[in-house]
Amino acid sequence: MEYKKVTDFIHDLYGAQDFVPLAVPVFIGNEKKYLNECIDTTFVSSVGKFVDRFEEETAKYTGCKRAVVCVSGTNALHMSLMLAGVQRDDEVLTQALTFIATCNALSYIGAHPVFIDVDRDTMGLSPVAVREWLAKNSEQKNGECYNKNTGRRVKACVPMHTFGHPVHLDELVEVLNEYHIELVEDAAESIGSLYKGKHTGTFGKVGALSFNGNKTITTGGGGMMLFNDEELGAYAKHITTQAKIPHRWEFKHDHIGYNYRMPNINAALGCAQLEHIEEYVASKRETAKAYEEFFKNIPEIEFFVDTPDTRSNYWLNVVILKDKEAQQNFLEYTNDNGVMTRPIWELMNRLPMFENCENDGLNNTIWFADRVVNIPSSVKI
Ligand SMILES: *Cc1c(COP(=O)(O)O)cnc(C)c1O
Repeated sequence: MEYKKVTDFIHDLYGAQDFVPLAVPVFIGNEKKYLNECIDTTFVSSVGKFVDRFEEETAKYTGCKRAVVCVSGTNALHMSLMLAGVQRDDEVLTQALTFIATCNALSYIGAHPVFIDVDRDTMGLSPVAVREWLAKNSEQKNGECYNKNTGRRVKACVPMHTFGHPVHLDELVEVLNEYHIELVEDAAESIGSLYKGKHTGTFGKVGALSFNGNKTITTGGGGMMLFNDEELGAYAKHITTQAKIPHRWEFKHDHIGYNYRMPNINAALGCAQLEHIEEYVASKRETAKAYEEFFKNIPEIEFFVDTPDTRSNYWLNVVILKDKEAQQNFLEYTNDNGVMTRPIWELMNRLPMFENCENDGLNNTIWFADRVVNIPSSVKI
């Protein structure tokens, strides 16, 4: 039976464990050393050298001007949208095919999502579909974009690099510039993923990374904003740390601030993890290659690969089953037989909070939702 071949292959790939999880963190470097240093020096909390170092090294790694840490990817996205100028009752173009955090973040501001379809070759927001929706539904007023149907301003667009696969960024940037819409990348799943050699999350006003436990590198929990505008980055640091005016003893604040600062112990973990990120990505890409070769011999299951312009981190590997019934059968068989797999998230437009939001029909989105299954993807070192 074909599904047995798959579970046998995956057990072999991951050293014949009884149970193969979807994605677990690996700690092969200086994690314990840096954590001990935090404890030995008492700098475990909101002050300490690892916070600055993690920001500097992430900026260097991703090639942006300034990186600012947060306590989660979700609040990195919340702040990113606010810093891009999104306000209450604005609209934000995004994917229905994403994790809930994308939509939660814009909802915190009181903005509304508009769900646009994804591309079949990236599983991420389609620049062609964005252009089509804008041509039909938007008008320009005083150099800003408005939805003709609702009268609301369309302030930003949040593509998500699904499972690590970059969206068509050049085309997306072009259409958003034309329509005066800010780009905020949800790069939570795509640390280490490149588009034409440049790191995802660095193409727009702000990009957000996540360091949750299941992501490519982890700080326990955490996130990071990436900026090309140094001044905006400095402002982000200010408002995510209670907007306190620096002074040796005075407590004065010049804004409503947020306590979104990552503790030093989490940043210590991040510094150690980041030292090995290229090995992790190489390992994930090797695993993906092995899957690609294997699934060539299983005609009813397609392995999803990255586009020629990109280097995906293959955060979570994806197979495409031939229909919803095959998807359900595959999920049941693999989970019954010691291989953890799962379908794509419930689409955002099917959740009660977002079911009345505008969408463009979402043809490819629904196609994927009925067929995608994630298979084990942990780094093998
Ligand atoms: C992981 C993730 C986030 C951020 O999640 P946190 O758990 O808050 O770090 C945001 N968007 C997407 C698409 C994600 O996968």
